[in-house]
Amino acid sequence: AQQLEFLKNSIKSIPDYPKPGILFRDVTSLLEDPTAFALSIELLVERYRDKGITKVVGTEARGFLFGAPVALGLGVGFVPVRKPGKLPRKTFAESYELEYGTDQLELHCDAIGPGDTVLMVDDLLATGGTIEATVKLIRRAGGEVKDAAFIINLFDLSGEARLKAMGIDSFSLVNFP
Ligand code: 5GP
Repeated sequence: AQQLEFLKNSIKSIPDYPKPGILFRDVTSLLEDPTAFALSIELLVERYRDKGITKVVGTEARGFLFGAPVALGLGVGFVPVRKPGKLPRKTFAESYELEYGTDQLELHCDAIGPGDTVLMVDDLLATGGTIEATVKLIRRAGGEVKDAAFIINLFDLSGEARLKAMGIDSFSLVNFP
């Protein structure tokens, strides 16, 4: 509990970014503190060790920062989910809703397959739109999504319930309204 309080305190909150009325939770301040950064990775690795995870998927861009070290800690491969046009091999693409308009995410078709048990990692869960698109990509590739792990959950935005509706449990180190 003390460790989680330390992690929470390492995250700076920025009012009115990127727009008036939004309180932005800035995980770059956690990354700047080597003790907080190491602890966040250790806690996730501890939780998912020996759970049969075969791949970690991280979503561009902050999902890379946490997903890659978690993959190393678990001794499994890391697979990036990226914005359109960035991945060189054949890809699956999924659209998802933004506050205004839609965007797309892509996954290499051959990066995940049947027999893979996947842990998704991202910095923050808000409405769950980003992670839902990521789930669809992994399932299209034939992988089983085991769990979703986040540094921060903005619980008022109900992302956990959205993931639960897709049959996925989630875990977050820090919770903010
Ligand atoms: P969702 O798709 O769950 O609504 O939004 C989650 C995505 O938006 C995450 O990939 C995250 O990087 C970004 N995001 C939304 N709000 C914040 C915030 O307050 N802080 C940070 N660091 N990222 C945010």
